[in-house]
Amino acid sequence: MILVLSCIPGRTNLCSNHSVTTPIDLPPDIRSSLDSLDLEGYISFNDVHNASKDFGNRYQLPPLAILHPRSVSDISTMVRHIVHLGSTSNLTVAARGHGHSLQGQSLAHQGVVINMESLRSPDIKIHKGKQPYADVSGGESWINILRETLKYGLSPKSWTDYLHLTVGGTLSNAGISGQAFKYGPQINNVYQLEIITGKGEVMTCSEKQNSELFYSVLGGLGQFGIITRARIALGPAPHMEVEKLLSELSYIPSTLFSSEVPYIEFLDRVHIAEIKLRAKGLWEVPHPWLNLLIPKSSIFEFATEVFNNILTSNNNGPILIYPVNQSKWNKHTSLITPAEDIFYLVAFLPSAVPNPNSRTSNLEYLLRQNQRVLNFCSAANINVKQYLPHYETQREWRSHFGNRWETFAKRKHTYDPLAILAPGHRIFQKATQLSPIQLL
Ligand SMILES: Cc1cc2nc3c(=O)[nH]c(=O)nc-3n(C[C@H](O)[C@H](O)[C@H](O)COP(=O)(O)OP(=O)(O)OC[C@H]3O[C@@H](n4cnc5c(N)ncnc54)[C@H](O)[C@@H]3O)c2cc1C
Repeated sequence: MILVLSCIPGRTNLCSNHSVTTPIDLPPDIRSSLDSLDLEGYISFNDVHNASKDFGNRYQLPPLAILHPRSVSDISTMVRHIVHLGSTSNLTVAARGHGHSLQGQSLAHQGVVINMESLRSPDIKIHKGKQPYADVSGGESWINILRETLKYGLSPKSWTDYLHLTVGGTLSNAGISGQAFKYGPQINNVYQLEIITGKGEVMTCSEKQNSELFYSVLGGLGQFGIITRARIALGPAPHMEVEKLLSELSYIPSTLFSSEVPYIEFLDRVHIAEIKLRAKGLWEVPHPWLNLLIPKSSIFEFATEVFNNILTSNNNGPILIYPVNQSKWNKHTSLITPAEDIFYLVAFLPSAVPNPNSRTSNLEYLLRQNQRVLNFCSAANINVKQYLPHYETQREWRSHFGNRWETFAKRKHTYDPLAILAPGHRIFQKATQLSPIQLL
């Protein structure tokens, strides 16, 4: 007899109706039991509005409470408490970085959202030497790490294009940008993690210590544990000599466009766009983004169809294309990539801006366009994988993980047996008295 976690059976009400405000029936003592926990930080039941949505701005799922932890032990206490309540409650837990997820992945409907930013300990500590690193909190933003490391002439080796994301948030995905072809994604540039598992245990892990947990968590979509601390690999902050770099390339001189900015300004460039968009009220609109990993053998076919026949309007927002070399990426993490050595991250990043004169910028149009891209990939048998994946059915999640599904589900059972963590991905559903864990 094998104990398995129940998985979403198909479209759940959370998926088909993205705005749910009716509270799930909770025994009245659950709220007071949360309130009575002995914490260094505090729990709040009132300011849940901001934690009920994310950057994607398409889901509105309010939590019951927000934990503002001051210590690792606050988080562990909360997780242990929810484990202790067991299947008598629907409570789940979502660690929330800055809520930059796109389809509600950082939400916990009627559960507890942990505001990771309030976990201020440890301060950023830089260790110089032959193999420099920074010890940081899981809720730390990459921009703060950059500012601190630059004081020592150092910087993290691998970046995202936008730095106002948190360590725990990007390490739960991958952290991909222009440096990933050289150093691998951010999940390849971490030496050690401190994790609170779905059982509430605090564990340190690395390549050598508790390595299964280490690799499960990296790219693990928050399913196996909450990252409370990370040891990030650093290298010398580069001095870009543009002329030297250009001398190694062949290019058409008249197409050269160059602009000289300080290193920090270059890395923080998306934030400058953010400030402008916020000022115009255009940041908090729906973002139907689609991030795909396309194998090299299909990129030409993909580009021909998608750019000639599907994306026919110029209202599509930025499109990023990063070729990467998988042989430089660690194969043990939970990140799912296409099987080929070289693949491309193709990121479609539109904003749905209400405009009565332009149907191509409305949300439904953009979502249909994304679906056409996915349908084409499926019809053309392109072995595409989604980055920052989002699926609504168990069949789709299994297909995403392919032959790694069994391992993923087994690890979930090991580290988060009640399926408490990161419910917003809708991969596993917490077992409750109404919907018990299945015995096969
Ligand atoms: C403007 C913008 C630019 C972006 N650019 C890039 C880019 O260049 N490259 C790239 O790879 N991605 C990029 N992203 C995507 C980004 O990596 C994801 O949005 C990711 O969710 C990180 O955001 P966050 O730190 O706010 O985490 P959240 O959105 O708050 O959380 C994301 C997921 O991680 C889990 N999580 C959060 N913190 C922890 C933790 N401490 N421990 C365990 N689980 C945790 C959450 O429960 C959730 O499931 C971008 C996003 C935006 C909005």
